[in-house]
Amino acid sequence: LIAFLLYLFYLVAPIGQLVTGAVQLQQGLAALKRIKEIEELPAEPVGTAVRASAEPVGLTFENVAFRYGDDRPVVHDGVSFAVPPGGLTALVGPSGAGKSTVFALIERFYEHQGGTITIGDRDIRDWPLTELRAVLGYVEQDAPVLAGTLRENLLFAARDATEDDLRDALARTRLDDLVARLPEGLETPVGHRGLLLSGGERQRVAIARALLRKARLLLLDEATSQLDAVNELRLREVIAEAAKETTVLVIAHRLSTVTGADRIVVMDRGRVRAVGTHDELVGEDDLYRELAATQFLVG
Ligand code: ATP
Repeated sequence: LIAFLLYLFYLVAPIGQLVTGAVQLQQGLAALKRIKEIEELPAEPVGTAVRASAEPVGLTFENVAFRYGDDRPVVHDGVSFAVPPGGLTALVGPSGAGKSTVFALIERFYEHQGGTITIGDRDIRDWPLTELRAVLGYVEQDAPVLAGTLRENLLFAARDATEDDLRDALARTRLDDLVARLPEGLETPVGHRGLLLSGGERQRVAIARALLRKARLLLLDEATSQLDAVNELRLREVIAEAAKETTVLVIAHRLSTVTGADRIVVMDRGRVRAVGTHDELVGEDDLYRELAATQFLVG
């Protein structure tokens, strides 16, 4: 019986190997097919701009339509608004209104399915990605700080910036106090193993980096986390200061940071429902007045 079982084992084992081999072959062929598909994608034109020029650029959304997938709900249902070059524009609205998606479409993390988005009179679909992103500065809610010194963090995308540029950016972003407090000033390591900066400070480092890089349109997703009164005031000043140099579009979770904005775009359920200054909107738009009231900005 043992001899028979051994015989059976030797008979069956190679069949198992054959099956495994066939599966591996199939997986290999699928991978090859995918590589071929990727190779056949149209080539991304190579950008020429290494460092963008400093002129602020405007932005327009014209009847933009977007959903994250065919089986997903519509997120943008004909979004239209215009941001002239320079100055401060704020996007506000309830959670889920589609504000972050505006940034994702500008950055072309996703492609919009209808309408037109232009930056400086040029359809963003016509920009090579490298050039488009050289023009944009993107400050995330939880702006990352890289391993390395504060100086490296500020200059890694603007190697040709001078010491004067650096001093100017530090002053504009109110980071000069921080530099004075750090044990080795600008040479202090601030990365994940170094000193931990607060969320507000990290956002200001990211804004300084964008200013040094001469971003022509700064997208700032304001941190939702609570800031103390001093840090909130500082952020408001820094946003206003950045808007003197470039075009700033900020997603504002605290209206207090943008009551002085040149224009506020109120979004709700995938559409723009009103555009105006704080005073105009308090007078004209129910939703804005309600948002302002919940944040104790109107009586
Ligand atoms: P919040 O103020 O809460 O950040 P928001 O106004 O920025 O909201 P979006 O983040 O743009 O709104 O989201 C709009 C809608 O799109 C929401 O219903 C959201 O669930 C959905 N959504 C956002 N990102 C994705 C994604 N990556 N994949 C699928 N759906 C998404």
